[in-house]
Amino acid sequence: MRLVLLGAPGSGKGTQAERLKQQLQVPHISTGDLLRAAVKAGTPLGLKAKAVMEAGQLVSDDIVLGMLEERLNQADAARGFILDGYPRNLAQCAALEALLARLGQPLDVAVKLDVPSELIVERIAGRAAKEGRRDDTPETVRERLRVYSEQTEPVARHFEQIGKLRCVDGVGELEDISRRVLDALPKTTAA
Ligand code: AMP
Repeated sequence: MRLVLLGAPGSGKGTQAERLKQQLQVPHISTGDLLRAAVKAGTPLGLKAKAVMEAGQLVSDDIVLGMLEERLNQADAARGFILDGYPRNLAQCAALEALLARLGQPLDVAVKLDVPSELIVERIAGRAAKEGRRDDTPETVRERLRVYSEQTEPVARHFEQIGKLRCVDGVGELEDISRRVLDALPKTTAA
């Protein structure tokens, strides 16, 4: 199963991906996690990305694509993946489609988690208290939500136009949301 999870920051993509990876037997690939690991390790790429992430803006397409390509080339991604946090804009979407076409492994589906914005703000405040992410401050969150609606919502529209978008209600108990996501997957390739 090759799946993209879409949804605003704080919509629960990471949490759902962690649950679904076991059921689908494919890795959860989060570009945010890959970037945070690079920042933590202090790699040249991490040093470049740090300030951009703390401002709630998007790291350059080249950097993220390079990182993603490297990750998709690892053996565990041969059976598929759950992509979380990528593509974030239309250019990344085109790059992903080109990359997967080259690998002969087109995307099966994009699932969007729908969560009302009042709840998003509440959830991120909860996560900030728990995880202490440096980009979960109120100011950065506002910027990330703005970037999402300006740059990432067009990606959802693109997947809708090519018939690959499924929208799922992202509010409620974790198990119920996971069940809805599983129900939204194409039946022929579902695990
Ligand atoms: P996330 O964990 O997905 O919320 O990502 C946290 C931050 O990492 C974002 O606000 C961006 O600064 C950066 N980031 C993650 N994924 C991407 C991406 N696909 N393109 C550009 N920047 C990204």
